Amino acid sequence: MKKHILVTLAIAGSFFAGIVCQAKPAAHTSPKASSSITVFTGVKVINGTGAQPAENQNIVVDGKYIKSISAELPADISTDARIVDAHGKTIIPALVVGHAHLGLLKGTTTSGANVTEENDIRQLKQYGKYGICMVMSLGDDHDCIYTVRDKRNRDLIGGPYVMTAGHGIGVPHGAPPLETGADEIYRPTTIAEATKKVDDLAKQHVDIIKIWVDDLGGKVQKMQPEMYKAIIAEAHKHGLKVAAHMWYLSDAKALVNAGVDVLAHSVRDLPVDDELINAMKTHGVAITPTLAVDESFFIFKDNPEWMNSKFFQDSLEPGVLEYLRSEKYVPSLRERVAEYVAQDNLKVLFDAGVKVCFGTDSGGLERPPGFDEHRELQLMVAAGLTPLQALQCASQNTAEMLGVAKSMGTLTPGKLANLIVLDADPSVDISNTQRINSVWIDGKEQK
Ligand SMILES: [Zn+2]
Repeated sequence: MKKHILVTLAIAGSFFAGIVCQAKPAAHTSPKASSSITVFTGVKVINGTGAQPAENQNIVVDGKYIKSISAELPADISTDARIVDAHGKTIIPALVVGHAHLGLLKGTTTSGANVTEENDIRQLKQYGKYGICMVMSLGDDHDCIYTVRDKRNRDLIGGPYVMTAGHGIGVPHGAPPLETGADEIYRPTTIAEATKKVDDLAKQHVDIIKIWVDDLGGKVQKMQPEMYKAIIAEAHKHGLKVAAHMWYLSDAKALVNAGVDVLAHSVRDLPVDDELINAMKTHGVAITPTLAVDESFFIFKDNPEWMNSKFFQDSLEPGVLEYLRSEKYVPSLRERVAEYVAQDNLKVLFDAGVKVCFGTDSGGLERPPGFDEHRELQLMVAAGLTPLQALQCASQNTAEMLGVAKSMGTLTPGKLANLIVLDADPSVDISNTQRINSVWIDGKEQK
C-alpha cells in the first residue's frame, strides 16, 4: 500500500504531491487490479443533492459508472476488485462549471492567439486535477473547441467533459473588449445578421447561445433589446438556451422578460427586487453568480493569505504571481463594491427559491482554472449559503441547467463516477474542498 502512495506522488508531480504531503495519509489503494470494479470503502458521502453527509458508505464503481452506494459492502464484490480504503475521507461529486472560458490564457497573456486545441486540452487537464468534471466554455471560443468536445465525447482524450457556446454574440465596439482576447466573437450590426449568426451557431452544434449585454460602466456599446429579443427567439426555435452576460438590474429584468434562460453573472449595481425574483421563478431562469470574477479584479492588492498557498500557486501560469504582486496590477473599486452587492443578491435569490447554479468566469489572467472554482464555493458560503447548498449549486443544479443531470452532478447509482476524494469534510468548512486526495472522472483517477 505504501508503495502505491509513493508511485502516486511520483506520477502526480508537484500539484498532488504538495497536497498529499500536507494532508493526512492518502486513501490506501490495493495493487492494480484486473477487474473493472473499484470500491471506495468506509467513506463519508456528500451526494450533491443538498442532503446531509452519509457516514461510513461504500461506493462501488463499475467501469465508468457508479454501481451502488451503501452502508453494507455488497457481498458479490469480486476478489480482484480495486479497493480504495477511504476511511476518514469525504467524497463529493466532481464540480460542474457553468461559466468558464477555455484556451484564452497562456503565460501572462489573454489572447485569441492563445486559443488552440492544444491549449484548450492543457487547461481542461488542469480543471480535472482540481476536481472539475464538466466545463462550459461560455463564448470567446474558436472552432477548435468543437474538435476538443468531440474528442472528449469519443473518449480520445480524458479529463473533464466540455460544452461550449462557440463564438458567442456581442456587438461592434461592445463587450467583451478585443483586448481580452475576444477576437472571434460574432458582432452583428443588424437584427437580420444577428439571427443568421444564431443559425450559424446552431449549425456548429453549440450547446448554448451566449450574448453580452453590458456597457462596462458606460465605456462601450450595449446590445439593444430589439437585437437580444430576436436572438433569444431564434435560439429557442433551435431548442437552444440563451445565457447573458449582464451587470445592471434593469438589464437583468429586461432579459428575463425577453425569455433569457441563464443570467451568466450576478446583478451588481443594485439589490435585486421582487419584480426580478418573481419573473426569474415564473420563467425558470437560472443564475451563475460568478463571485470569483468580481473578486479577481481587486483582491490581489490585499495580498490575501491564500496567495501563498501551493493550491493557488500551482494553478497559475508562469509569471502571473509576479504580475499580481507588482505595481502593474491595479485593483478596481467598481468590482470591489459590486462584489458586496453580488453576495447580498445571491443570498436573497437563493432564499427566494431561484435556481442558483455555479460559474466562475475562470480562464482569465487573474482567474486561474481550477483554483477559482474552489474560491467561488468559499465566496458563496461567505454570502450566506451553507456549504452543502453551495456544493449542490456546483453539482446537481448546474448539471440540470446544462441538461447533463442524467449522467453527472450527483453521486447516484447509474451516473458517471465523477468524484473527488477529500481529506476533510467540506460541510464543516468549505475550504476543505481544497484538501484534494484524488479526483476520479469516468471512474478513472486523474493524474
Ligand atoms: Zn465569461
